[in-house]
Amino acid sequence: MKNISVALDGPAGAGKSTLAKKTAEHFGFFYVDTGALYRCVGLFAFRNNITSKDKEDVCALLPQIVIEMMYDDSGIQRMVMCGEDVTDAIRAPEISNYASDVSAIPEVRDFLLSMQREMAVKYNVLMDGRDIGTVVLPDADLKIFITADVDARANRRYLELVARGVDTTFEDVRADMIIRDKNDSERDVAPLRAADDAVILDTTNLNFEESFIAICDLISSAGLST
Ligand code: C5P
Repeated sequence: MKNISVALDGPAGAGKSTLAKKTAEHFGFFYVDTGALYRCVGLFAFRNNITSKDKEDVCALLPQIVIEMMYDDSGIQRMVMCGEDVTDAIRAPEISNYASDVSAIPEVRDFLLSMQREMAVKYNVLMDGRDIGTVVLPDADLKIFITADVDARANRRYLELVARGVDTTFEDVRADMIIRDKNDSERDVAPLRAADDAVILDTTNLNFEESFIAICDLISSAGLST
């Protein structure tokens, strides 16, 4: 029988990953955070002192990058790159911009595509990213595009970073977010956009619980509860 796939796309800071994690757990789906894959490539470039926009240098690194997506006992996705657990390292703020830059390189996207599709062939997935509904899983059973205005998104990301002990300011987080939004939506390859058949969910005025309920309703109404 075909597995269930739910695509969850949207800009940075829209609350996708926290919502996706909880929703996946609720329905018993595998949560696949595809941004973590781009972050691994970004981290690898960063550690090799490669300018992340330098396409040729980044592409030359790809054959050396071995990424494994693993799940711990509590179902949390762990990223292992060349044998090292980089789950925390890829979350550093400077890696966000590296990830955004390398994600505009078509060869990087091709390099990561099959891993993402294989997950959907093997498991019921809730996959979060930018191009899941448009490119990775165009036949997903349900496509949700989560968005919120830039201030709401920057504020959420800021609070999240502060809670993790990262020294930053709201203004810096907001400025970074605007750059990433621009990079992600204006790139030529797989730009951030809602699929034509996606349901748009604007969470600007919704708290976490309300957003969670809205997503659960969409999944249940689509008849995708297992
Ligand atoms: O989701 P997250 O913020 O961790 O993603 C990091 C970066 O990876 C994004 O800014 C985006 O440029 C890129 N990305 C992408 N396609 C995806 C997931 C993430 O281009 N499916």
